[in-house]
Amino acid sequence: MNTKKLEKLVRNIPDFPIPGIQFKDVTTLFKDADALQEMSDGLCEMYKGKGITKIVGIESRGFIVGPMIAHRLHAGFVPVRKFGKLPAPTFSESFNKEYGEDAVYIHQDALNENDVVLLHDDLLATGGTMVAAVNLVKKFNVKKIYVNFIIELEDLKGRDLFPSEIEITSLIKYDI
Ligand code: AMP
Repeated sequence: MNTKKLEKLVRNIPDFPIPGIQFKDVTTLFKDADALQEMSDGLCEMYKGKGITKIVGIESRGFIVGPMIAHRLHAGFVPVRKFGKLPAPTFSESFNKEYGEDAVYIHQDALNENDVVLLHDDLLATGGTMVAAVNLVKKFNVKKIYVNFIIELEDLKGRDLFPSEIEITSLIKYDI
């Protein structure tokens, strides 16, 4: 996978949604047919043969590439969503954001102990969102947990929050 090519297609929007944030916009990568295909091929190559049974995508940008990989790995897709979106009984996990608290939710029947899970989101910043999602998945005593991001903002050291047994990959790394 030519990650340099993918990196060039990510658009940086300074001061969005608030001053000081360098927003990494993946829509400019997603709209490029060759890049989208290459990223999908590359991710499938990285995770094929690992016995992955479920892709868990994080709302909302994890709902774009997550199902593509699920389809190609012949895995199921499970959404982790924000408050009030999932209709059946849920487990929840709260986490700290820069200002205040937030929470993520998963259906109580979404996974089981035979699952090998790949969690996917577009971007790792402080890590709060994905750590909460990993904690949700852990409630099911699944066999193994993998985590993937398209982009990692390395300076924020979000990776350090995860337990060492969790294998984390990211395709594009920025110093911010
Ligand atoms: P965090 O919990 O701090 O790792 O934040 C990750 C979530 O916030 C992901 O779902 C991202 O889509 C979004 N996010 C955080 N920072 C950025 C950024 N600089 N550019 C784009 N999305 C971001």
